[in-house]
Amino acid sequence: MSGGIRVTVWNEGVHEKEVEEVRKLYPNGMGTQIAGYLSGKDGIATVQVSELDHKEQGLPDAVLESTDVMTWWGHTAHDKVSDENVARVHQRVLDGMGLVVLHSGHHSKIFRKLMGTSCDLKWRDIGERERIWVVDPSHPIAEGLPEYFELPRTEMYGEHFDIPQPDRQVFLSWFQGGEVFRSGCCWHRGKGKIFYFRPGHETLPIYYDENVLRVIYNAVKWAAPTGVKTVTRGNVQPLEDVK
Ligand code: ZN
Repeated sequence: MSGGIRVTVWNEGVHEKEVEEVRKLYPNGMGTQIAGYLSGKDGIATVQVSELDHKEQGLPDAVLESTDVMTWWGHTAHDKVSDENVARVHQRVLDGMGLVVLHSGHHSKIFRKLMGTSCDLKWRDIGERERIWVVDPSHPIAEGLPEYFELPRTEMYGEHFDIPQPDRQVFLSWFQGGEVFRSGCCWHRGKGKIFYFRPGHETLPIYYDENVLRVIYNAVKWAAPTGVKTVTRGNVQPLEDVK
């Protein structure tokens, strides 16, 4: 993109304020931690953090219209995001805004609306090891990563993950307890691109991990709007004389 990608890191921002353990890990919020990594990276023009308790839930028109890619972290307050705002984010995705959905965002209204399924999964929070395998090594979201990387302590998400078949799957996770999970998946909806990335439990230092952050950066670049700007739909005149 000419001029670089304008990123909005949407962060629910509730646990950081209410749970001491999370506040200690992310004193300025999880969103600020992610935004700090993305800021100034090659190809990124601007990064702003929006939170649920900001004006219009951090999703006013001025923000949506100036966002090329939005990342979304939510968990405990999915229901607080108004249906009206979800509909507006949904429309922006169909119009070309990229959306990178993180961890417990699998149950956000926006992700479920885009997927059309329950997006339910198995989970367990005992701090087990996760090994994240790259299963699509030529995919741009895998750029610069090793063949696999590990998180020593994570929350487990297991199959079956009730999502539509991804257009491309980039990562597959294995957990110490035995489960597996499609932990990095791509979809296209309208002109927009969506990436779901699993790691990010709020009580563990997941967004300090270099590989995790690298994936988010790669995903932002992948999800940025590309291709034709205007698409015509509906009844149209022929381009040539048709006899
Ligand atoms: Zn979690």
